[in-house]
Amino acid sequence: MSLPHGSSHDALLVLNAGSSSLKFSVYRVDADEQLHLLASGGIEELGAAAHFWAKNSRGELLGEQRWPGRAPAPAPGPLGHSGAIDFLTEWLREHNGGGMRLIGVGHRVVHGGLSHSAPELVTPELLSYLQSLVPLAPLHQPHNLLAIRLIAQRLPGLPQVACFDTAFHRTAPGVSQAFALPPTITAKGVRRYGFHGLSYEYIARALPDYDAQAAAGRTVVLHLGNGASMCAMQACKSVASSMGFTAVDGLVMGSRCGSLDPGVLLYLMDELKMDARAVERLLYKESGLLGVSGISSDMRALSESQDPRAIEAIELFVYRIGRELGSLAAALGGLDAIVFTAGIGEHSAPVRAAICRAAAWLGVELDEAANLAGGPRISTTGSRCAAWVIPTNEELTIARHCLALLSQQEEGTRHEQQHA
Ligand code: ADP
Repeated sequence: MSLPHGSSHDALLVLNAGSSSLKFSVYRVDADEQLHLLASGGIEELGAAAHFWAKNSRGELLGEQRWPGRAPAPAPGPLGHSGAIDFLTEWLREHNGGGMRLIGVGHRVVHGGLSHSAPELVTPELLSYLQSLVPLAPLHQPHNLLAIRLIAQRLPGLPQVACFDTAFHRTAPGVSQAFALPPTITAKGVRRYGFHGLSYEYIARALPDYDAQAAAGRTVVLHLGNGASMCAMQACKSVASSMGFTAVDGLVMGSRCGSLDPGVLLYLMDELKMDARAVERLLYKESGLLGVSGISSDMRALSESQDPRAIEAIELFVYRIGRELGSLAAALGGLDAIVFTAGIGEHSAPVRAAICRAAAWLGVELDEAANLAGGPRISTTGSRCAAWVIPTNEELTIARHCLALLSQQEEGTRHEQQHA
């Protein structure tokens, strides 16, 4: 099976490059500049036993491939990021039937710093600025930038757009972005940035279609995936986030610990003699649902387990969300709606129910049947605070930005030519 083809059409590629995965989506751009998903998929477990899959918009498999993991020399090494980009660009070429013209690539870039509150076309200057932010997001940013560089090498001249996960939160008031640290440290960029912005932006744009009152009022969005955070929105603009300087802050996540007393870090270093890398591994990879349960970082696996440690991990996950919800409602001065999104938020009815019970004091009254049915509205009609389930789509947000910037650029070029 191949991608739909026939008459020639423009297409956009969206890439989300992580430490061990490369996720992608391809959109057709029609004559009215509407986007239509053609394919999405990913290459996971890069650097180990990599696995590629791609599906069309109906969820039908378009392709699948596996690579061997590490093997002794002279066997070829495992597939890495560079090989993954080569494979993907070749796969797209082979499967487009000659009908698709790639007009740009949009990238998810975790950090845009303080000076980038909107997506931007990639230039050498932007790339070197984004490189300077690597110390602020060492586990994500290098992979995002590597994908941009590899595409520039493989497909030179193709416009690329960087979309930042931090950008959505730049509307938050200064006090909500500050730590109580001396200005010399703050000046180095040590402040609360917030992440998952592309997901929140998608929800902010979709919310008016679900709940006009919430869109004009005070809403907390719960992005509960492997990474998890919450965002307080006033009239669909971010005013506070549970994530701070890095994406390890806030909620309990798949394998990240979330908020921690900073004194714990001193104890780990002074008493347990852990160095920075060991602490990093503990906080990012060995904590959260995985660390507490000792079983899995995956909510579905924990939900199916009867093991008391799995139950304890889910209880802690829910408890911390409940507390954070109180904090974000305080930042908003009240609450009109909550919105569940991402893997756990969209699919786990029991977790949503437990969170809604913890939020009863804020006026959330759960409609059990609607919750089991997956929503979209899961609160009763009389509920003082509405509760919704809205599927997120970060890739579409990136594709929209990419198209808007490319159209803007084309418009600018036309304008210049007319006035030359
Ligand atoms: P990522 O942050 O990697 O994009 P996702 O948004 O895909 O993550 O969310 C992954 C999480 O969603 C995992 O913990 C997974 O177990 C959970 N999840 C997905 N489907 C279900 C389900 N039906 N019940 C409970 N948890 C689910």
